[in-house]
Amino acid sequence: MNKQVKRVAIIGAGPAGLTAAYLLGKAGGFNVQVFEKDAQYVGGISRTEHYKGYYFDIGGHRFFSKSQEVEDFWTEILGDELLERPRSSSIYYNHKLFSYPLVAGEALRKLGLLEAGLCVLSYLQSRMFPIKNPANFEEWVSNQFGGRLFRIFFKTYTEKVWGIPCTQISADWAAQRIKGLSLSSAIWNAVFPRRKQHKQGPIIKTLIDSFRYPKFGPGQMWETCKAKAEALGVVVGMNQPITQLFYHQDKHQWQIGHQNSWVEGEFDYVICSAPLRQLVGGIKNPLSLAVRDAAQGLAYRDFITVVLMLKDQHRFNENWIYIHDPNVKVGRVQNFKSWSPYMVPDKEMACYGLEYFCFEGDGLWNSSDADLVALGTSEMVTLGLIDGGMVLDSYVVRQPKAYPVYNQEYQTHIETIKRGLQPFEGLILTGRNGMHKYNNQDHSMMTAMLAVKNIVAGEMKYDLWKVNQDAEYHEDGELANAGGRSIPTSV
Ligand SMILES: Cc1cc2nc3c(=O)[nH]c(=O)nc-3n(C[C@H](O)[C@H](O)[C@H](O)COP(=O)(O)OP(=O)(O)OC[C@H]3O[C@@H](n4cnc5c(N)ncnc54)[C@H](O)[C@@H]3O)c2cc1C
Repeated sequence: MNKQVKRVAIIGAGPAGLTAAYLLGKAGGFNVQVFEKDAQYVGGISRTEHYKGYYFDIGGHRFFSKSQEVEDFWTEILGDELLERPRSSSIYYNHKLFSYPLVAGEALRKLGLLEAGLCVLSYLQSRMFPIKNPANFEEWVSNQFGGRLFRIFFKTYTEKVWGIPCTQISADWAAQRIKGLSLSSAIWNAVFPRRKQHKQGPIIKTLIDSFRYPKFGPGQMWETCKAKAEALGVVVGMNQPITQLFYHQDKHQWQIGHQNSWVEGEFDYVICSAPLRQLVGGIKNPLSLAVRDAAQGLAYRDFITVVLMLKDQHRFNENWIYIHDPNVKVGRVQNFKSWSPYMVPDKEMACYGLEYFCFEGDGLWNSSDADLVALGTSEMVTLGLIDGGMVLDSYVVRQPKAYPVYNQEYQTHIETIKRGLQPFEGLILTGRNGMHKYNNQDHSMMTAMLAVKNIVAGEMKYDLWKVNQDAEYHEDGELANAGGRSIPTSV
């Protein structure tokens, strides 16, 4: 009997989609097509946009993973083009820059003895009388650091990022993102050199002090990955948003399509990294109202980077600065030249990325580029990070659905959706918005790697929902650990 070559459709050419594309190309024996909605860039949220020789990320993208498989993948794609860069970041609070991770002596000096003493007392109080079963971000962080440090170093920035009070943010989020970090470990880290700590135990996620970074930003990784996948026979189509899908129960195959047309032929597998809300909305088969409602209930936070180019005044050399100041809207400032000197075409110039967190369609999102540049410039002057009249050129990037929101309902919604999609074979959810996971590239890539292993094996050996935030595969599953609820294995 003639063995049919399996057809695989990949929705999205971000880290998840391109990792799957490249690995399927390497495995051979599959007909692989990638559909990317963007007309120009691959890399998704990890793309690098460019303008007149300046390169800038959507945020700043560190390449760091606990997974050797992911690290090896990056090396295989970029080799020597991947630089080793020092990490340097600060927190702007009360008109001062505090090194982040905190340096004990400096923090004490800059906070002042009285405030520092009150922080220690508040920390001791939280250790002696912790909030039992912390349910939200504020309670979780206050338990770890004390309420006072929470208000100084966490509250303002976090509320800017999510646009909701910290009491409405799930404790899971804090547990995942600030995992392993407590005041004692932060102080230990401040007092003792980092190298000693590596030998002592697991590296604390938010304290890592160097990372790899492509010469020309993360987009270089994904442009190169695309080229290598194409050399292996994968077809990558740009400007191809997939908006509808239909599952043929009898053939166990999928049809996928654009606005008014279907892509020719059927696919045995669809690897999807498009936002879960959109995916469910695009499925033309009957789905229960509960599943449709759950998908509609998934929330996202959107993101604008206002890029300013100016003569370098060397006000700061950090890679990025968190802005803990409620008087300005900017949440974080990136200094792209510190990420890689190749990101700026002239060494006399600086290029800053001012990050604004917003909702698609709100006042900030709908502001004209000129208004956003004016806002960014005046806020940088207010913060004392640049002088007025220095900005020579600018650029604005809008990123919809930059963050899947972990509100109190999201886990229930995900469970409902997973159950609803279970009857559809061959649909594989991967990646950040594809699984509604607030992740880094390595998690997205690991889900793609396991998707490929499943396809090559011809059976769903790995449950992609069991990849944890550190891109590690855990048989017992992270949600079971975090929330005490296990979620049925799914698509
Ligand atoms: C501010 C910020 C900073 C970050 N910093 C880091 C960091 O330091 N290190 C790190 O590793 N990660 C970082 N990340 C996370 C990283 O950006 C993501 O984990 C990663 O890009 C997710 O990859 P993905 O392929 O799952 O999804 P995406 O990057 O979202 O890619 C999905 C792709 O699918 C395409 N697409 C969507 N819908 C459709 C459709 N219907 N049809 C066709 N195509 C579609 C999109 O255009 C996109 O290209 C950061 C993210 C943000 C927002």
